[in-house]
Amino acid sequence: EEDRALLAGDHDDDHDAPVPAPLPVLAIVGRPNVGKSTLVNRILGRREAVVEDTPGVTRDRVSYPAEWAGRDFMLVDTGGWEADVLGIDASVAQQAEVAINLADAVIFVVDSTVGATATDERVVRLLRQSGKPVVLCANKVDSFKAEADATALWSLGLGEPYPVSALHGRGTGDLLDAAMKALPRISEHGTVRPDGPRRVALVGRPNVGKSSLLNKVAHENRVVVDDTAGTTRDPVDELIELKGRPWIFVDTAGIRRRVHMMKGADYYASLRTVAAIEKAEVAVILLDASTTVSEQDQRIISSVVDSGRAVVVAFNKWDLVDEDRRRFLDREIERDLGQIQWAPRVNVSARTGWHLDKLVPALDRALTSWDTRIPTGRLNSFLGELVSGNPHPVRGGKQPRILFATQASTRPPRFVLFATGFIEPGYRRFIERRLREEFGFEGTPIEISVRVRE
Ligand code: GDP
Ligand code: GDP
Repeated sequence: EEDRALLAGDHDDDHDAPVPAPLPVLAIVGRPNVGKSTLVNRILGRREAVVEDTPGVTRDRVSYPAEWAGRDFMLVDTGGWEADVLGIDASVAQQAEVAINLADAVIFVVDSTVGATATDERVVRLLRQSGKPVVLCANKVDSFKAEADATALWSLGLGEPYPVSALHGRGTGDLLDAAMKALPRISEHGTVRPDGPRRVALVGRPNVGKSSLLNKVAHENRVVVDDTAGTTRDPVDELIELKGRPWIFVDTAGIRRRVHMMKGADYYASLRTVAAIEKAEVAVILLDASTTVSEQDQRIISSVVDSGRAVVVAFNKWDLVDEDRRRFLDREIERDLGQIQWAPRVNVSARTGWHLDKLVPALDRALTSWDTRIPTGRLNSFLGELVSGNPHPVRGGKQPRILFATQASTRPPRFVLFATGFIEPGYRRFIERRLREEFGFEGTPIEISVRVRE
């Protein structure tokens, strides 16, 4: 069906694809060892443990696409947070706070064999403050007899405790049914209106200048405090008018509040970063121009690229860059920023305000690329020429041919190649490079997948 439509011509090329509604976000929150990971695995239908990392090692991915009763949603998993990574009550609360901010609804997991602890009570307070819908999971109710333990959790004041055994699967259906009832159909968080303000995340390692940049931008521009029509916005976000248009800077509360982080600081910073990126359409990755790109910078770059969001790179603290540093920097950019060669770069100083006006044009370029759709006809005439000039190398006496291609989606641009055989990664990268040369795509990742047909 699909193939015939492609061969027949370009049906839906010249109008934009409808903007996909962002999936609602369900977060699983609770103390360490209450069974969050076990529950996440059960919901995702996975057997292997989610937690495969060494404690203390940053895990980038915290949310997964999931489905229940025909509904798609994003599941935010905080279960990999080992007790000894943070170890203290305050950190459980911090973790919960990040997850709650990110979510449209929350499953709060309590270990019914232990009952409600002081830490649980702290999380309950956060949940109340957030006003988000909560479903209470009384976990480790492995038998009918144990259901009395669940009943005791009415005392938390969160409504009916759902008795569940994440380990055996008991009660998880009812829990998920309740969660689906609580979860809005359309996310309040990723709400993207094509004509509404664009959503920007400022990301970067601690001390790179995020809060300085935000403050400078906020002071020199109008901060919109009233609700503009149709704009859904979290209290943690800020609406700032730049060049006559409102922009939403997401998760700015996390930037403004200087949290004292001790153990697990990296993990916490990384979770924040992921939370912000997931809510944004474009990420500004801040790097400190006065020092070398670090491993932590690289991790942040990777999570932005993996997220599929548009990207702008801002080299901050440019006031500290002298001639010598500048020469090194060029070489470092070649060496360290290979993953995002295609991102627009701006050199700025959050301290002096120098070149901050370059930010909006760069954001616009990146977002335009992110939204770009190449008509199938143009794509195929370009590829036809490319492939006849540079055919895929012959492997084992066979030469895979690319039959045709289509752009499956935008935000970011995703391409599907239909081919007669396996297309080597090297050749895919070659195609990506030529696509970029031909069509630009400055500031957006692009994805190329291959479907093999006989
Ligand atoms: P997390 O730290 O909250 O992610 O907790 P885990 O999912 O890692 O679970 C902690 C421990 O509790 C593990 O040993 C699990 O096997 C166990 N556990 C999880 N769910 C249940 C349950 O429903 N019943 C019982 N008896 N044990 C469970
Ligand atoms: P954050 O942790 O990323 O929010 O970083 P901050 O905004 O708190 O900045 C960390 C430090 O770098 C502070 O001492 C800032 O004054 C300093 N800083 C931020 N931007 C600049 C800049 O453009 N130039 C210089 N020289 N210092 C800066």
